[in-house]
Amino acid sequence: EEPSAALAVPQAGGDELILLRRVGVVDPSSLDDYRAHGGYTALRRAFELGPAGVIREVTDSGLVGRGGAAFPTGRKWQATASQPDHPHYLVCNADESEPGTFKDRVIMEGDPYALVEAMTIAAYATGAHKGYLYLRGEYPRALGRLEHAIAQARARGLLGDDVLGQGYAFDIEIRRGAGAYICGEETALFNSIEGYRGEPRSKPPFPVEKGLFGKPTVENNVETLVNVLPILTMGAPAYAAIGTARSTGPKLFCVSGSVARPGIYELPFGATLGELLELAGVREGLRAVLLGGAAGGFVRPDEVDIPLTFEGTREAGTTLGSGVVMAFDDTVPLPRLLLRIAEFFRDESCGQCVPCRVGTVRQEEALHRIVERTGAAAAYDIALLREVGRAMRDASICGLGQTAWNAVESAIDRLGAYE
Ligand code: NAD
Ligand code: SF4
Repeated sequence: EEPSAALAVPQAGGDELILLRRVGVVDPSSLDDYRAHGGYTALRRAFELGPAGVIREVTDSGLVGRGGAAFPTGRKWQATASQPDHPHYLVCNADESEPGTFKDRVIMEGDPYALVEAMTIAAYATGAHKGYLYLRGEYPRALGRLEHAIAQARARGLLGDDVLGQGYAFDIEIRRGAGAYICGEETALFNSIEGYRGEPRSKPPFPVEKGLFGKPTVENNVETLVNVLPILTMGAPAYAAIGTARSTGPKLFCVSGSVARPGIYELPFGATLGELLELAGVREGLRAVLLGGAAGGFVRPDEVDIPLTFEGTREAGTTLGSGVVMAFDDTVPLPRLLLRIAEFFRDESCGQCVPCRVGTVRQEEALHRIVERTGAAAAYDIALLREVGRAMRDASICGLGQTAWNAVESAIDRLGAYE
C-alpha cells in the first residue's frame, strides 16, 4: 500500500507530540500495537470515573470543538447526557471537506483505533449506545482502516454488548458521504444519514436536544474526540496547562501552499502564525495567508505575529477555523484565486435558501467580471459584492452561506486585492 502523502511529511514537535504521537509509529491495522502504545488506558479510566466524572474532566480540560466552531465540548456532552428523551446518539463528523483541511484524515489513517476508543468514551459519557461515523467519501484509505479497526475492536470485546466486560453496550456504524461539502454541516449530515437530501436544518433546536432521528445527539469532529484520550490519561489540569487559558491543549494545523514542507503540524495553542510558517519553510515573496480555509479569511505577511489561538485570531479580526494555514506567494494571481473560492461556494451551496443560492452565483459573476478585466474591479462590482456578502452573512440558514463572503471580503479589505 502506498504511504499517505500527508503522513510522509516530517512532523514538528518531536517528542512533544500528543495527538500525533502514534501516527507513523504504530501499525494502524494492529490492535495489539495500539494497546502496546497506550491504547485503551483512557477507556479504562473512563469506566473508573463514570459518565459524570468523564464529563467533568472534559469540561475542566477546557476542550472546545476542533471542527472549526470551538464550542465547549463538556457543555455539549452535559447537555446531551441530561436529556430525558432516549435513545441518545453519538455522531463523529469525519466529513472533513474544508479546502485545505486534512488533519482528521491523518488521524484516521494513522491511528484509527484512537478514534474508535474516543468514540466509545464519548458515547459512554453521554448515554449513547449507537455511534455513527460519517466519513468523507473521498477517504478510501481511512475507510478501510476504520472498518478493520471497528471489526477488530468488536471481535475483542471493545465494542458490542459488553464493552470491556463493564456491562455497557456500544457499537459504531460507518456512513460514507458522497462528495457534498454541505453534508459536513451537522444537521445536513443527520439528514444524509436518515436518507434525506443533505440540507441543513434551522437551529435551534440544537442537536443536543433534537439531532439524529430527532433524538438527543452529540456531534463531534474527529480531532475533538481524540483529544479526550490525553485528557483522561494525563488528567484535566495537566491538559489545561497546555496552550493558553482560553485555548487549551494541542492543535493540529494543516499547512499548504507556498511552503517547503506542507503537511500536518501539531503545536500547543499560542504559537504564532510566523513560527508555524517558519517550521513549514515559508518561501520568499509571501503575499498572503489564508486562515481557516475558504470559509476563513486572508491575513497579510506583516500580520504573522497573530497567535494561533481562538481568541488571538478573533481579536485580530480573523479566524482559526479548523486549523487551515494556506500560504500564497506573489506568483499566485489573487483575482483568480478569489474566483476559484467563489466557484467552490456556488458549487457547494445546497440551494435551500435564497441568500446563499442566489448570492453565491452573484458573487461568482462579479469576481468573474473582475478576472476578465485582468484583475481590475469597477466600483460597482465592489459595492455589489459587499451588498450580496452582507445579505448572505445575515440571512443564510447555515454556516456555508454565512461565510461564503469571508475570504473575498478579507482579500479586499486586508490585502487590497484589486488595488
Ligand atoms: P455553530 O457555531 O453553529 O455550532 C458549533 C457546535 O456547537 C454545533 O455542534 C452546535 O450544535 C453546537 N451549539 C452551538 N450553540 C449551542 C447551544 N446553545 N447549545 C448546544 N449546542 C450548541 O457552528 P457550525 O455551523 O456547526 O460550524 C461552523 C464551523 O465549521 C466553522 O467554524 C467552519 O470553519 C467549520 N467548518 C469545518 C469544516 C471541516 O472540514 N472541518 C468544513 C466546513 C466548515
Ligand atoms: Fe443551503 Fe446555503 Fe442555505 Fe446553507 S446557507 S442551507 S448551504 S442554501
